[in-house]
Amino acid sequence: MRKRIHILAMGGTIAGKAGDSAATTGYQAGAVGVEELIAAVPQIKDVAEVTGESIAAIDSKDITAEEQLRLAGRVRELLLKGEVDGIVVTHGTDTMEESAYLLDLLHFADKPVVFTGAMRPATALSADGPLNLLDAVRVAASDNARDRGVLVVLNNAIHSARLVTKISTTAVETFQSPNGGAIGAVNDGAVVFYHSAELHHLPGALSISEKLTSQRELPYVPILYGHSDDDGRLIKWAVENGAKGMVYAGMGNGSIPARVETKLAVAVQQGIPVIRASSSACGMVTQAEASYEQAGFIASGWLNPRKARLLLQVSISCSISPADWQKFLA
Ligand code: ASP
Repeated sequence: MRKRIHILAMGGTIAGKAGDSAATTGYQAGAVGVEELIAAVPQIKDVAEVTGESIAAIDSKDITAEEQLRLAGRVRELLLKGEVDGIVVTHGTDTMEESAYLLDLLHFADKPVVFTGAMRPATALSADGPLNLLDAVRVAASDNARDRGVLVVLNNAIHSARLVTKISTTAVETFQSPNGGAIGAVNDGAVVFYHSAELHHLPGALSISEKLTSQRELPYVPILYGHSDDDGRLIKWAVENGAKGMVYAGMGNGSIPARVETKLAVAVQQGIPVIRASSSACGMVTQAEASYEQAGFIASGWLNPRKARLLLQVSISCSISPADWQKFLA
């Protein structure tokens, strides 16, 4: 039986329009409708029964928690109704890794949810969107993609939502998984997996997703970016402005300057959880220093600052036990 794949469009460059086909920047993101996106790839009909709907038409740099949770709510509804075999989300690349990871945390089904996008607008010479969309539908329709959580498919590579990050400002090969690598590829239409990434679905994801997708907001958890000569003055501002948790993107192995460490330790004493992450491109953040442990800082493990932030937001919002969420940081 032909697979039923539903496309949820969020906007982004894949739906971008520029005035000139040689232009790969300076375009309007989210200007092309989902029907037009599907029509641009007639081969999709040979792969699956494809339907589509628009959830948003935004440049993903502007996405809010409300929009991310609206998307999560529609995915939840489609999976619970059981009328589709897989879901493809077309999304801007700037925050794709965040929305994909958030949906991965809330995922409760074995059916694939596959994010894709593009680095060149739909109107560009050598636009990468059409093949990315076709590959994403191929992955969503593949039996092999079941039980692998939320996936990100671009440039013929299949990544786990947990491991993937956007590394280049403009290159089509921007999505990489520096810790662990891509988990598969789409080779001339064949969907191949090399290995499985550990899944990060929260225990009780079905009820957690129900709560979050109805409330459609997440607590304020800023990321503070460490740098030389940092004295941590922003910490006080963050606390006074309602931060419910903080992520410090430290140097190297999540190193925190001594002046900042003292202030973050005070925040933890005030009941504000602090995750130590890293601005480095790859590698694990470990406990590293006894003083970090004593202060009660949580090491981000393999998660980059933006994903650590989402995990903390969801955990705070749903009062998830530390044992249930901090295991994802090992
Ligand atoms: N700024 C765009 C967005 O994230 C970039 C893209 O889609 O590639 O929506």
